[in-house]
This record gives sequence, C-alpha cells and structure tokens, in this order.
Amino acid sequence: MVRIAVIDRFLCKPKRCNFECLSFCPLVRTGTEAVIVDKEKNRPIIVENLCTGCGICTKKCPFKAIKIINLPEEYGKDIVHMYGPNAFRLYRLPIPKKGKVVGIIGRNGTGKSTALKILAGKIKPNLGSYDNPPEDSQIIRYFRGSELQPYFEELFKGKLKAVLKPQEVDIIPKFIKGKVCDLLERIDEVDRLKRYYVTLNLEKIWNRKISELSGGELQKIAVTAALIRNADIYLIDEPSSYLDVKERLNIAKAIREAVSEDIYLVVVEHDLAILDYISDLVHIIYGEPGAYGIVSLPRGVRTGINAYLQGFLKEENLRIRREAITFDLRKEALRFPSKEVFLSWSKLRVSLGTFKLEVLPGEVHRGEVIGILGPNGIGKTTFVRVLAGEIIPEEGYVEKRGSIDISYKPQFISYLRENDITVLSYLREVSDYDISSSHIRSAIIKPLDIERLYKRKMSELSGGELQRIAIASTMLKKAEIYLFDEPMAYLDVEQRFTVAKMIRRICDERESAAFVVEHDLIMQSFIANSIIVFGGEPSENGLANAPMSLRKGMNIFLRDVGITIRRDKETKRPRINREGSWMDRYQKSHGIYYL
Ligand code: ADP
Ligand code: ADP
Ligand code: SF4
Ligand code: SF4
Repeated sequence: MVRIAVIDRFLCKPKRCNFECLSFCPLVRTGTEAVIVDKEKNRPIIVENLCTGCGICTKKCPFKAIKIINLPEEYGKDIVHMYGPNAFRLYRLPIPKKGKVVGIIGRNGTGKSTALKILAGKIKPNLGSYDNPPEDSQIIRYFRGSELQPYFEELFKGKLKAVLKPQEVDIIPKFIKGKVCDLLERIDEVDRLKRYYVTLNLEKIWNRKISELSGGELQKIAVTAALIRNADIYLIDEPSSYLDVKERLNIAKAIREAVSEDIYLVVVEHDLAILDYISDLVHIIYGEPGAYGIVSLPRGVRTGINAYLQGFLKEENLRIRREAITFDLRKEALRFPSKEVFLSWSKLRVSLGTFKLEVLPGEVHRGEVIGILGPNGIGKTTFVRVLAGEIIPEEGYVEKRGSIDISYKPQFISYLRENDITVLSYLREVSDYDISSSHIRSAIIKPLDIERLYKRKMSELSGGELQRIAIASTMLKKAEIYLFDEPMAYLDVEQRFTVAKMIRRICDERESAAFVVEHDLIMQSFIANSIIVFGGEPSENGLANAPMSLRKGMNIFLRDVGITIRRDKETKRPRINREGSWMDRYQKSHGIYYL
C-alpha cells in the first residue's frame, strides 16, 4: 500500500485552529517531523513517508480538511500530475484517439478538468514532482509505448493545436464583451460558422450582447466558438449544462460531426444519455473527490456506461461503488403513490408581457413526482408559479386543499453567493427543521455531503457545491409542493442519482408533491411518476398538456423532438437511437418513441 495525505486547500484554516494537526500528531510529539509547517505559505504539510496513518489528525482537524488514504502500491508509478504537497493527484490519463469521440465519466473533483487541461497542453504533467517538474523529454519518455507518447511529442512541438471548451460558461461575460456576431465572426478560422448558425439556431441571439445571454445561450456560443477554430484536438467540458433536450441533441450532433480521421475529440459529460450518444469510447475516472482520481482503461461506450452504473470494472477487477444503480421498470407501473388529489386546475390562460401560456386541466396527487419536459422559455416556471398562487391566471382556477406552501429551487442560483455568511449559518437561517437532528442529517445533509462545507463561505462555493446547498435548502422547508428547476445542473452522475432518490423520498415521507423541470432524460425516467409535456413557441406562446404516465409523456415529448429511445438490454437504462439507424426507423414507423 502507498499512503497519501491530502489537505483541502479551501478547508484548511491554520489561523483559526492554530495547527491542531501538528500538536496532536503522536509522531511530532515524540520528535519525528511527520507534520511540518510551510512557513512561507503558513500551512501544514504532512510528510507522507513518515506518517503512520493513525488518523488522529483527521479526527482532530476542526475543519475536516485532512484525508489519509491507502492506495494499492501499483498506482504509485502511474501518477501523472500532483498540484502540490498534500494536494489532489491524478493517476493515468484518458487516451485521445484520432477519428473517435472519447467520453469521460466520473464524479466531480476526481480530475476530469485536470485531465482535459493536460491534454490541451495548458498544464504540463509533473508526474508527481511538483517541486522539480520534469522536462518535456522526460514526460514523453514516461509515456513510452503508449499512444500518449506521439501525442505529447507533437503537442509539445506545437504540431498539434488544441482548443478547450471550459466547464463554467456563466463566467464568459466577465472576460468577453461585445456582440455574439462580432465574437464568432472574428474567430471563424475555416469558415464553419455558417453551419452552426443553422444547426445550433444562432439567428435569434446573433445581434445580442454577450452580457445579456442566458446560460443555455452562453453554452451554445462557447461550443460554437470551440468548434469553429481550426484545431487538431477539441476538448469539450460539459457541453449540455443549461440546454434543453433538443439543444443538447443538436450540440451532441455538432460535436460528433466535428470529428474526422485526423481529429482528436474528448468530451466530459454527466448527462449519460448524451454522453452515450456522443461517444465511441469512454474512460471512467474513479477515486476520492478532492483527493485523487484514477483513469480507467478505455471501453466501448455501452459497456463503459454499464460498468459505471453497475459500479464494477471487470478488466481492473475493481468495485468503484458499493451498490449498482438500477432502472427499476416496475416503478413505472406504480403510476401514483396515492390516489388522493392534492391540487387540481381547470384550463388556464396566463399572459406575461408578450408571452402567453395555455394550460390544459390536470391534477396532482400526494406523493407524486411530476417531471416537466419542454424547451427553455416555454412557460414551465410560470406554470408552477400559477399553481403556487404567485401568478393569478386570467382565465381558469386552481383548486387546493387548504393552504399550500411551495418551496422553490430556481434555475439560476449564483445569487446565493451574495450571502456573506458560512454554509452552516445560511442553512440554519433558511431551514424549517433542526439541521442537526439525526433524521435531517441522514436524509439530506449526509447524502448531499454538505457537512464538509459547513465552515465555507457561501461566496466561495463552486457551481456543484452551490447546487447541493440550493437543493438542501429547498428540501429543508416545510411545503406541500416542491419545485426543482433544473436541479441536476453541475452535479455529477452519482449526485444526480442521489438527488433523484431524495426527491422521491421527501415526497413519500412528507406526502408532498414535487415538480421537477429537468432536461436529463435518464434522470426524468428515474424520478418521475408522470410527465407534463410543454409545447409551443419559446418566448412567444406555451401549451402545457395534462400530466400523463411517464411512458405516454415521454413518447409524446420524444416524438416532438424527433428522437427515439430504446432500453439497454443489461441495465435497462434509456439509450437514444442514432438518427436513421435500424432501431430508430423501426420505432418511428411503429410510433414507439420511448421503448
Ligand atoms: P473535476 O473536473 O473532475 O471536477 P478537477 O480536475 O477540476 O475535477 O479538480 C480535481 C481536484 O483538483 C479538485 O479537488 C480541485 O480542487 C483540485 N485542483 C484543481 N486545480 C487546482 C490547483 N490549481 N491547485 C490545487 N488543487 C487544484
Ligand atoms: P421556462 O421555465 O420554460 O424556461 P418561463 O416560465 O420562465 O419559461 O418563461 C416563459 C416566458 O415568459 C419567457 O419568454 C420569459 O421571458 C417570459 N416571462 C417570464 N416571466 C415574465 C415576466 N414577469 N414578465 C414578462 N415576461 C416574462
Ligand atoms: Fe488546522 Fe486542519 Fe489545517 Fe491542520 S489541516 S492547520 S488542523 S485546519
Ligand atoms: Fe500524524 Fe497520524 Fe496524522 Fe499521520 S495520520 S500525520 S501520523 S496524526
């Protein structure tokens, strides 16, 4: 075994704890310098080859900043990058292949973006020697015998040009000013822009300022800006965030079409249906978030995603999760958890500015999770605000049993960073429950892994961390209706399944109902009892259908979008058929869009 010690650079606050790890380490007390202080940076360093792994410091650290982990000896030689002493380390790399789309799947904080930055040449892999980084020739020699050797040889010589689409698109307006058309025309190196102007529907935003774009619009611009560059390597980090299903598919098609026999293309994506659709091969990155990540061998896309869901890597003989994630088909038969109608509505008409929404009559039952599917800007949020009594319809009525409280997680949550308080203070302030009670801890705090963030400032949180806090604070309110508007954005696959299970559980336990607006089709098919499909013209008029069974709703929605879905034989997970494939043609000819 090799022992690694990791100190989280955000959590470690020596000024506030006065180096408790140092004073409690039994080795330091007896004169062995297993923990030393980096005087320049005023932070502790655990000397890994002296540390015995007793774990006392991990328990004593008031900020839970230390992790001591034992890894099999063989990984030691596979270290590709380490950010510094006791920092995150990445073992092995994904292998880009010319002419293939290589997908990467794994938990947040296990090094996916680090791997992309290394493949883009933005980070030179230091092979673990952060204090004495290797020369280019040593790095190339290290990868001898693998396809990464010629890759880095050419990359370092400048013979390969790489383009990276970064993960966070919300920050683009901070760095890039001006109009969409000016930006894209300036970087259209090989006259490809015309193509994406049509396929990604850029005409509506063509003359808009970048500072005025929504998240989904920024995503389209970021992917377009990457694909129109003349490069040999395209590295695309999470292309589907903020996009609706049709747009996700358009982006997926654009990415697939960008690959040709001389091009390398690597994509990180958490929407498994989209990752499945885009990729030819996948690498799984597993490990301990924030501490280390190990890149698996490449697998075919179907077997790779199945192995990830099953939590077992056969070739490596390694279990990466205790339980498999399964798609229980019996759940679909249980259409409503309760027959008791909780809330019903007649035909409704609503106008907001120039936008008009028509809603067909429907009802929601206690314990029911209703998935909402439809394009962005079609009135999904407006509809739920009508149910909550926040907007009064011009026509029709909503019938409630007594008063109804609604707890709402909006789509955009970055405003939460404006709270200049710690996570713990924030949650205490907004919660209707005692957050230290064992029930709330085991039902909400632990599954979302929030305790570790308690002492962090709200303003310091990453996108995924903030999303988990937003979801927790929504669930910590006593309400009859919970609305989650795009809860899966920025979450990794594991966290998505955790959140899906939690939403179902709180609806059962509290006999509430939930509406979940979510474009990740695998999550919708996992979470929803029934579906409301929205149609119409975004930003102009919307039509909300009555709730239908998951199967019927999906079928109608997919027919509108023009895609068909089959089930994987092994895991029963939904898979999008390639357009024009035999299954796609067969299902379309029989009107079976959701098998
Ligand atoms: P992912 O893309 O899988 O979410 P990242 O590659 O972004 O993971 O990050 C992996 C880990 O490396 C995280 O814990 C992150 O905090 C850490 N990390 C990223 N950049 C740095 C850096 N410059 N210095 C120290 N640690 C870093
Ligand atoms: P979705 O949730 O499907 O993305 P919304 O319900 O948020 O859509 O919005 C539907 C349309 O109504 C959008 O074009 C939006 O700009 C418009 N809209 C929303 N709220 C208002 C408002 N208060 N005044 C005017 N227009 C609005
Ligand atoms: Fe204090 Fe923990 Fe940092 Fe050590 S690791 S200095 S105990 S916060
Ligand atoms: Fe010291 Fe034990 Fe912590 Fe290692 S694990 S640094 S030996 S207290």
